[in-house]
Amino acid sequence: MFDSFGRKIEYLRISITDRCNLRCRYCMPNGIDLISMKDILTFEEIVEVAKTASSLGITRLKITGGEPLVRIGCTDLIAQLKALDGIEEVTLTTNGILLSKYLDPLIRSGIDAVNISLDTLDKEKYKTITGFDHLEDVMQSIDDCLLNGIRLKINTVLQQDLNDDEWPDLVMLAKDKPLDIRFIEIMPIGQGAYFKPVSNDDILERLKIQFPGIVEDERKHGNGPAKYVSIPGFTGSVGFISAIHGKFCSSCNRLRLTAVGELKPCLCFGDTIDLRKILRNTDGSERHQLLTDTFQNAIMSKPESHCFENRSLITENKRMISIGG
Ligand code: SAM
Ligand code: SF4
Repeated sequence: MFDSFGRKIEYLRISITDRCNLRCRYCMPNGIDLISMKDILTFEEIVEVAKTASSLGITRLKITGGEPLVRIGCTDLIAQLKALDGIEEVTLTTNGILLSKYLDPLIRSGIDAVNISLDTLDKEKYKTITGFDHLEDVMQSIDDCLLNGIRLKINTVLQQDLNDDEWPDLVMLAKDKPLDIRFIEIMPIGQGAYFKPVSNDDILERLKIQFPGIVEDERKHGNGPAKYVSIPGFTGSVGFISAIHGKFCSSCNRLRLTAVGELKPCLCFGDTIDLRKILRNTDGSERHQLLTDTFQNAIMSKPESHCFENRSLITENKRMISIGG
């Protein structure tokens, strides 16, 4: 289905939990008031929302959180979503800590690709950024995924004066490993508002100096707004998601579903549309119709663009862990 600005909406990010085994400083540094499990959508409810989404032309789903792999049964849910009519792709975004542990059921679920968030290759910085000592687990997960032929992207958020000097080492991950490394500019959502973003344009300029043979990579790598470059001799590509310095709203193709069942038309604004109320208070054909109508309304209420450049207009005040990225 197309929204009121002519954009085709075909991608739904589904947060399945507000819980996490890390405390990333730009995401949820001071812990979080956990939502009671009874307020979190059940897997049956998530599947029902996904069926509605699919009936309106959404073909791709991303499972996120919190940390999705801390929710028991995450891989069973992925298998159920993969089996739905009209769903062409289900992918996962994770901090990678539990990936090796759940790799076999994840492969059996039919997962199409995995994104791992990793901001540093330095053990001490990893602890500073995430609050925990799990870098080795993440690196093991990367190798295990690649050994098993899983399509992999590494997502990195750079912060000034902390890990902004690490991009050359992170880029080198794509030299011999068949993965894409992507730099995501910090968005001023939740705690992210207190960190200074590193401009992706600057990283790209420096990359061009270091690798003069670099070329744009126009192949399709996923469902998002990332722009890619290829470096001669590299197995993987380097991507840039530049929400701040390269606004890409005109090609926005997504909605977000929070763990408590709110549909979120845009990352920048706090407006949400409650599906849980419908899921829990209606049934049969009334529920089906209400879900469909409400989903359509959410698509039609997508704003033309975000307003990250004018912070006084941002109305989202949830932390990213509650939104799912
Ligand atoms: N726990 C999973 C993970 O870390 O990939 C999934 C949820 S996490 C909220 C999804 C993504 O959001 C991560 O890649 C994280 O780096 C990113 N993120 C969190 N806060 C952000 C912010 N303020 N700006 C940009 N990206 C952010
Ligand atoms: Fe957890 Fe992901 Fe947020 Fe880090 S970015 S605290 S791993 S949800």
